[in-house]
Amino acid sequence: MAIPQSCPLCAADATQQGVVTRHVYGDQSAARAFFHCGSCDVRYLHPGLTAAEEQRFYASEFAAFMAGRAGESAGWEKAEEHIRANEPTRQRRMAYLAPYLRQPARLLEIGCSSGFMLLPLLAAGHTCVGVEPSGAFGDHLRARGLSVYPSLEELRMSAGAAPFDLLMHFFVLEHITQPRAFLERQLALLKPGGTIVFEVPNAADPLYSVYDIPAFERFYWSIAHPWYFSERSLRYLLEQLGKPFEIRLEQRYDLSNHMVWARDGRPGGMGRFTAALGRELEDEYRQGLIRAGKCDTLVGVVRKL
Ligand SMILES: [Zn+2]
Repeated sequence: MAIPQSCPLCAADATQQGVVTRHVYGDQSAARAFFHCGSCDVRYLHPGLTAAEEQRFYASEFAAFMAGRAGESAGWEKAEEHIRANEPTRQRRMAYLAPYLRQPARLLEIGCSSGFMLLPLLAAGHTCVGVEPSGAFGDHLRARGLSVYPSLEELRMSAGAAPFDLLMHFFVLEHITQPRAFLERQLALLKPGGTIVFEVPNAADPLYSVYDIPAFERFYWSIAHPWYFSERSLRYLLEQLGKPFEIRLEQRYDLSNHMVWARDGRPGGMGRFTAALGRELEDEYRQGLIRAGKCDTLVGVVRKL
């Protein structure tokens, strides 16, 4: 197995790099592993995908891959079903996005998927632009009046690239080979005073950091993710931008999901036992994990002065 010579994020030397796991979900070659940098605390895939491997992966395999991962109820193939399935996620995010949306704003979402975040914002009177490389929902998004571009580059070369007030992406940054350059390109698309808000998985996911479920470990460390950030490593990355930022903790999955992982060793349990457990217990469970810092999601907020 190839050992990294230095950390690809902070450049700390080989003595700081150790193996996290050799189970890389989706790696046909079985030649890759995830490593941890003791200096900046990031976890990363090594060796990374080549440009050709990456392009092949995203062009054709992504929709099928995500459908396979999300369990039976996510409905990746069908837009309406996907929008319905993601309504709890949208509501959770709107709680922290609301302060940026008090005035009509120009919004960009990178990786807008079925449009479940943007379509209600469009209906609420904001100007909404999406970037979505997967063509799975393209016709549906355009039919519903959303401007959609297949890449950030094509957006930048178009009239749609007038500066934005708010730029969002959810579970995208961990897929990006050069995360710092990716964020710098976004800053260039913002108005002064504009904000980038994004979510990434937290490497302190409780299924791993609290329960240590073997089936989850084999599922979690995915070839689609060159990076897994913790609070500390995300802080390191955002400090490189030289802009004011904050990191918030969130818990995306509920107790029902965790019980199905513990019982059956698989995803797809979201909401299954909520009627019996009660919404209050689900909420308190999420808050407890957030207080402990053992939660599944990090929210980054970066401001352009
Ligand atoms: Zn490092």
